Amino acid sequence: MKLSEIIKDIFIVGGPDLTDGRDGCVYLLNLGELILIDTGAGWSVDKIIKNIEKLGFDPKNLTKILLTHCHIDHIGGVPELKKRFGPKIYIHILDAPPLEKGDQILTAASWYQTTFPPTPVDVKFNFPEEILRIGGEKIVCLHTPGHTPGSVCIYLDLNGKRILFAQDLHGPLLEEFGSNLGDWDRSTKKLLDLDADILCEGHFGIFKTKKEVKDYILSYRHQYGVE
Ligand SMILES: [Zn+2]
Ligand SMILES: [Zn+2]
Repeated sequence: MKLSEIIKDIFIVGGPDLTDGRDGCVYLLNLGELILIDTGAGWSVDKIIKNIEKLGFDPKNLTKILLTHCHIDHIGGVPELKKRFGPKIYIHILDAPPLEKGDQILTAASWYQTTFPPTPVDVKFNFPEEILRIGGEKIVCLHTPGHTPGSVCIYLDLNGKRILFAQDLHGPLLEEFGSNLGDWDRSTKKLLDLDADILCEGHFGIFKTKKEVKDYILSYRHQYGVE
């Protein structure tokens, strides 16, 4: 995993081998404005900002942060990024309360031996599918519960490819996270139906053919016994 352009205008700027071992992957979209998908665990905000600059972008143009779910390895950078650049924070309505309350269990902050402060969000997704239109492109945010009740997967069609961001698709499915296997089954079926060309995952990097994407999802369906 290294700082790179995945396809034109989509970049990986953070992740376990890139910024901090505790970070989930952080993706940058350049659609005239800059959009981040997730923010890492918080310790690496400076490195993420440096990476955005290394790619030739001005982080002041960061307008939106789309959060895939409420866990600290994905949301930890939010308070600092919000303070420095003021982007709008998006998350599903069911995963918003742990951020707003600073819930140390539901954000998994206590797992990471850190704390997460009560943090307001700007936009709460509240539909099975929400569409953000940005610079002529269409970003689709799908409610895909399973790992957490308000997990969201994001996809867009760009340069002839369908790119899917599915962060903790692999789980784990734990009672203390409010995980649900039946939901996860339905959600991963939806993801298979998308027939994505590229999967940008949350901890294991990037899968670059339709077959690799499908095999990856199927391997976890096999593991969880829902084939
Ligand atoms: Zn994660
Ligand atoms: Zn998670």
